Amino acid sequence: MYSTMQDVQLNISRLLEHGRRVHGGSTVTTWTGEAEPHRRTFAEIGDRAAQLANALRDELGIEPGDVTATLMWNNAEHVEAYFAIPSMGAVLHTLNLRLPPEQLVWIVNHAADRVVLVNGSLLPLLAPLLPHLPTVEHIVVAGPGDRSVLDGVAPRVHEYEELIAGRPTTYPWPELDERTAAAMCYTSGTTGDPKGVVYSHRSIYLHSMQVNMAESMALTDRDTTLIVVPQFHVNAWGLPHATLMTGVNMLMPDRFLQPAPLAEMIERERPTHAAAVPTIWQGLLAEVTANPRDLSSMTHVTIGGAACPPSLMEAYDKLGVRLCHAWGMTETSPLGTMAHPPAGLGAEEEWPYRVTQGRFPAGVEARLVGPGGDHLPWDGTSAGELEVRGTWIAGAYFGGADGEAFRPEDKFSEDGWLKTGDVGIISPDGYLTLTDRAKDVIKSGGEWISSVELENALMAHPAVAEAAVVAVPDERWGERPLATVVLKEGATADYETLKTFLATEGGIAKWQLPERWAVVPAVPKTSVGKFDKKVIRRQYAEGELDVTQL
Ligand code: ADP
Repeated sequence: MYSTMQDVQLNISRLLEHGRRVHGGSTVTTWTGEAEPHRRTFAEIGDRAAQLANALRDELGIEPGDVTATLMWNNAEHVEAYFAIPSMGAVLHTLNLRLPPEQLVWIVNHAADRVVLVNGSLLPLLAPLLPHLPTVEHIVVAGPGDRSVLDGVAPRVHEYEELIAGRPTTYPWPELDERTAAAMCYTSGTTGDPKGVVYSHRSIYLHSMQVNMAESMALTDRDTTLIVVPQFHVNAWGLPHATLMTGVNMLMPDRFLQPAPLAEMIERERPTHAAAVPTIWQGLLAEVTANPRDLSSMTHVTIGGAACPPSLMEAYDKLGVRLCHAWGMTETSPLGTMAHPPAGLGAEEEWPYRVTQGRFPAGVEARLVGPGGDHLPWDGTSAGELEVRGTWIAGAYFGGADGEAFRPEDKFSEDGWLKTGDVGIISPDGYLTLTDRAKDVIKSGGEWISSVELENALMAHPAVAEAAVVAVPDERWGERPLATVVLKEGATADYETLKTFLATEGGIAKWQLPERWAVVPAVPKTSVGKFDKKVIRRQYAEGELDVTQL
């Protein structure tokens, strides 16, 4: 029997039209670094997105399926591009402005971007790359910054505001098959070459509904969300799409991502929610410890992209800010899990749930696969590689050698599940605890040591600001942990003390305790602010670290 329901396609243009009409008064506030931030309503965003689409079609010749890139901070113009480009049937490609130049060149060429929308402040980054980007025909520049760096190297250059001015504020959005490509994002390459993930209108629409659900970020038009996670990092975790759906006000930091302006933004604009990786929250904590600010408006925060140390959660609890741990990947749109404890528990009982990566929503199916390929039980102890599937989970990567989508064996199972490369356990009630990335686990004498567990335990020490632990080769055991530690300003701690702390306070088994230690000025970070363990391993191999062996 067939259903009798209408078959309306889940198009992004529907989110835009809904947001501008029903939530026309909601706002996007962009930090400017000047006395006043810049404010634009959803109604204005809707008008301007239509104007941009008209300009892209009529002036730049963009057609359905053409890839249009952005090299932009989080701001109102970037939100306009987020909706204009997919809604007209083209594909939005967000470029990660922190990638090394050669990777950016590789990615733009791989995706065959025809246009790059760029913030003026990022032109010094883009200009030298242009001679190596043969597919790019147009550059559209928005916001402040010296344009002269484009002289002689750029194809056609347009000013964003001039380009859209006077154009119609409506657009005949095409009715698209919801499986059409809407946006693409390359993995940040923490563990290998970047790979392109192409989201569909359908996947983004369904993911937006999940983001807003009370069991996820619970966002409504009563909220203002501070979107620190970049729009080029998995679509800012889906937030700009989700906000148009329910009228959530957006607070956009633009290029002001340092702890001091973030603290000022929170105190002045009073967001109720925020989203960012742990490094940002570490930095903000140090800032507000030195220069106290009122963060009290920000009652709930989504933290993920890397393991959140429990000590960080505790510190923010004391400030009245509740961090909710989430797990996801570029391949998962990214919402995979969120760590809201089950109902009916007191604060003490909630804690063991809050420090997990969280619970899977109905849209994400999960399984654990053991070293021999067997599926493991959700018993809270059996550890294996996490595999997932669902409507917003990637089933392939964009453009292999022959231009077709490809499914590398190490990333997809034979029956089509995504292999996450993350190792962990799942409790009987569906809470995921990750012990490590498969590539970061320390394999010592046939046993596994979790680098994340050691890091979390070390970061609970009062003298330690950050700690990263990597596997290094060891003649006797195969691999052993190397602990690199960043001390808080003015703090001291000797290695024996830290090692004892791990064993006593941290509850780490004796055989897992690191014997190699190094104090470092900073932990190297990837383009999206995660610990870059590849770099630490290389520094060790090349003798660049001052290592003490206990
Ligand atoms: P990349 O793989 O290039 O770093 P992603 O942003 O897609 O780019 O990273 C996804 C990975 O980040 C996950 O596979 C996982 O290893 C890690 N990660 C994300 N969230 C968490 C979390 N809450 N706890 C631990 N690891 C996490």
